[in-house]
Amino acid sequence: MAKSPYKVLVRDLPTHRRFVVPGEHVSDWLKGHAMREALEVPEVDPEAGHGVAELDLDAVETHSFANGQFTGEVTVACSRCVNPVKLPIDEKLHVTFLPASEMPADDDDESEDGAEVSEDDLDVFPFDGETIDLEPLFREQFVLAVPYAPLCREDCKGLCPQCGIDRNTGTCACEAPGDPRLAALKGLKLPS
Ligand SMILES: [Zn+2]
Ligand SMILES: [Zn+2]
Repeated sequence: MAKSPYKVLVRDLPTHRRFVVPGEHVSDWLKGHAMREALEVPEVDPEAGHGVAELDLDAVETHSFANGQFTGEVTVACSRCVNPVKLPIDEKLHVTFLPASEMPADDDDESEDGAEVSEDDLDVFPFDGETIDLEPLFREQFVLAVPYAPLCREDCKGLCPQCGIDRNTGTCACEAPGDPRLAALKGLKLPS
């Protein structure tokens, strides 16, 4: 992506800022996420979600702080029926920006699966001492909002594994795959 529109100069602090995140950025940030890919929507997707951050930004000596609220939503596929699910985001943000030299040692192994990023990782971000870039912080809000297996509803019936019909909205005549107990009832010998 081109230059981040989510930057604030430290010399402008303290300040209050409102940032609006459009769907195009959400789809860019979640590019490659399995639950986004499953939707089969265009790569640049204005419907991918949106967000609004209301932040108080301040600086004390070499540290900067962002406190406020992030609200929005992100659209991903239901892990059972693959229909779109809108997941709400409503998070309080309390973030410290540290000069890179003061960052706690991190394990550098960036997980492919964003769902595994622990929430503690949200609290501290590195910066160069002059400019705060809020983009990584906002991106995390969308990544963390997506659970490992999102559901359109708790009791989503999913798709028929044989014909692919959406069992929430239709029925099919497919037979259930062979059940060993049924086979036993029919007197068949099961391979051991
Ligand atoms: Zn579903
Ligand atoms: Zn079926």
